[in-house]
Amino acid sequence: MPDRMRELIDVLNRYAYEYYVLDNPTVSDAEYDKLYDELRALEASEGRVEFDSPTRRVGGEPIKEFEKHTHIQRLYSLDKAVTESELRAFETRAVKGSGKDDIEYVVEYKYDGLTICLTYVDGRFTGAATRGNGVVGEDVTAQVLTIKSFPLAIDCKGTVEVKGEAIIRLSVLENYNKTATEVLKNARNAAAGAIRNLDPSVTEKRRPEIIFYDVNYASDVTFRSQTECLDFLRKNGFKTGEFVRVCRGMDEAIEAIDEIDVNRKKLDILTDGAVVKINDFSLREVLGETDKFPRWAIAFKFEAEETTTVLEKIVWQVGRTGKLTPLAHVEPVELAGATVRRATLNNLGDIKRKKIKDRCRVLIRRSNEVIPEILGATEYFEDSKDVVPPSVCPYCGTPVVETGANLFCPNTACRPRVVAAFANFASKEGMNIDGFSEMTAGILYDSFGVRKYHELYSLTPEQLFLLEGFKDKKVANILSSIENSKKVPLENFIFALGIDGIGKKTAKDLAKTFGSVEALASADEERLSSLNEIGPVLAENIYEFFRSPENSDEIKSLLQAGITPIYQSEISGDVFAGEKVVLTGTLSAFKRSDAQKIIERNGGECMSSVSKLTTLVVAGESAGSKLDKARSLGVKIIDEAEFISMINAGKDN
Ligand code: NAD
Repeated sequence: MPDRMRELIDVLNRYAYEYYVLDNPTVSDAEYDKLYDELRALEASEGRVEFDSPTRRVGGEPIKEFEKHTHIQRLYSLDKAVTESELRAFETRAVKGSGKDDIEYVVEYKYDGLTICLTYVDGRFTGAATRGNGVVGEDVTAQVLTIKSFPLAIDCKGTVEVKGEAIIRLSVLENYNKTATEVLKNARNAAAGAIRNLDPSVTEKRRPEIIFYDVNYASDVTFRSQTECLDFLRKNGFKTGEFVRVCRGMDEAIEAIDEIDVNRKKLDILTDGAVVKINDFSLREVLGETDKFPRWAIAFKFEAEETTTVLEKIVWQVGRTGKLTPLAHVEPVELAGATVRRATLNNLGDIKRKKIKDRCRVLIRRSNEVIPEILGATEYFEDSKDVVPPSVCPYCGTPVVETGANLFCPNTACRPRVVAAFANFASKEGMNIDGFSEMTAGILYDSFGVRKYHELYSLTPEQLFLLEGFKDKKVANILSSIENSKKVPLENFIFALGIDGIGKKTAKDLAKTFGSVEALASADEERLSSLNEIGPVLAENIYEFFRSPENSDEIKSLLQAGITPIYQSEISGDVFAGEKVVLTGTLSAFKRSDAQKIIERNGGECMSSVSKLTTLVVAGESAGSKLDKARSLGVKIIDEAEFISMINAGKDN
């Protein structure tokens, strides 16, 4: 019978080598952690730990190309928790070990990057090293010197070792990947690869930063707490974490972790969890460390967002602009609470740069999006083949056109293209035609040959009654939704036109700048690209869109059909400044989306569900569970009349 323990040790050691030494893992952290946990459980049940078990060691061995650096004080890893009960068990151990029952914790972001330790002697920076195996790291002084955001001199005598995490901001990584010949799969490996690179000019190009969170050793200063230690770092010009919450007891720490979990998706930095540390250093001393972890801190890891799976085939989809987008069909895999079967790749260029092949193992990431993104290939098989892009549109057979990294179907009447364009036209951000779906667009395309938006406005009840499933109510609803859509905010109209690259935000900016469709349509490229957020490519798209006779005829026909785009100069103020508002129930004077806009224009933020972060709930008619939750949390609740008087009060100011 194969020895499972040996199997696990061998495979984990291989993965650790790929991760720590090569900075190029073939599996996700979640897949590694699962095997690691299995090994730990097996070692506990059998009561033996092999000499080369990864559970005995911290990180990876330093590679020989770098000079070795021996840390004055050993650098530890962190024990991890993934459930609330594991955090509580940590607290129980800490209380028992320290004899103190109301422990103060500091909760910080857990940055997902590469641990870096900087040494200062008599106030001068003398070198930087990686954590390595915790005792010996790699000297990366030349690489770290390309980073400008840490001090070369500090106000402190003796020897000091400060510890932080080298990271790469997500926006920096995204920009880097746009032009890179080799795409960097994720921010953690990108940061590690940038620092552990023998050529410091590569480090500089990737623009890493270091965020500092600990003083690892200080010969001449003493600190009494984590907060004092962070103050010291800040005062000396080190960049420290933007989230530092002092919490009394684990309940408060868990609240802080929940808050991080909600907000981390908006951060420009990769965090894979939160670190809970005992604030008081005298308690830390009592608790001490194991071989691998301090007993006074624990990392709480959030649900994984990345995993690997096998790409089985690529199917090309045609979108509203005719662009062919490759959609990967992958071997079903559980990720962030859902079974993933499909994953996106942006275009042909993306496939090439990410070195994707038909059948290969890929790393996928699911953050806010419903369909996860493919970050790169991690393994090829014997039957892996280069992806052959289609030469004709898979739907209508028209030869495709290659523009830059993209393939296009040039046939403006191609069915999926028309259907997607109509769905965009009718969407909430567009003409807001209630009850109109892609399916409706498909039926109208097939039954009446509806290809142009303006044709919607001449549909008759008699025509609609001919369609299967269209009875009195459905016909009346759809016709009244179409009629109601005629008075449309300008920004929605611009969005509805489906100009390539124009999302909700740009449509809003364009409406604000130009104030009418006519003014936008006659703007030249120079004027368009002088606007913030509009680059030359987008400016050209907009300009060309309005130059096409087909598009200008369509706009004319829409206006003739009675569509009136209205630009309301924004009512803005600060009556909801700082409020996190949840709307619930039915409001009689406003559509939900309009009420949201009013709140946002007046400084507030709308949330979809009630939580501890909510500061105000506007409860309309028949409000249900959200109202109950707000009551139970003691959140301020107002009715529609009070909401209106708040808005009016704002206008009077
Ligand atoms: P870790 O990254 O899970 O946690 C410890 C580290 O967190 C510390 O060393 C420190 O560098 C960092 N950290 C970030 N923010 C911090 C803060 N505010 N305060 C203190 N420390 C902070 O542990 P590790 O030992 O570096 O790595 C183990 C993990 O690496 C595994 O759990 C696994 O997920 C991953 N791994 C993955 C593979 C793979 O093949 N995918 C292989 C080996 C290891």
